[in-house]
Amino acid sequence: MSELSDFDDMYQEVIIDHYKNPRNSKKLSGNYDETKAHNPFCGDEIELQLIISEDRIVEKISVTGRGCAISQSSGSLMSDSVYGKSIEEVKNINLNVRAMLKDEELSDEDLDSIGDSYAIEGVKKFPVRIKCALLSWAALKELIDKY
Ligand code: ZN
Repeated sequence: MSELSDFDDMYQEVIIDHYKNPRNSKKLSGNYDETKAHNPFCGDEIELQLIISEDRIVEKISVTGRGCAISQSSGSLMSDSVYGKSIEEVKNINLNVRAMLKDEELSDEDLDSIGDSYAIEGVKKFPVRIKCALLSWAALKELIDKY
């Protein structure tokens, strides 16, 4: 087995783990922002709830939905990657994830900022699945751009 296939297997495990045990999937209560995103090509749905604190930090996040493993695990990974981050950091992470899936060059710092969501990097080899991977990130952008 080559090193590359080991690498793929490792990230495959992360994706399956987040699909089976999604993080931050408890619905929020109180004063939250909410949006829904739908990927008609695959039937994926994502519901995103956010509470942004007065000092512009992602204080609470909830991601739920249904659909393929990539869309749902990407939502869970996204929630982990942006929880506790500032609006500016979240905007930057969102750009970096898109750049990663477009196979653009990223600095080490930009790659680090992505956190566990790096696990979806392999999706770039499957252009039809990029929409699945980016569904939760598109929902996030919609809410975050208001700040
Ligand atoms: Zn999908």
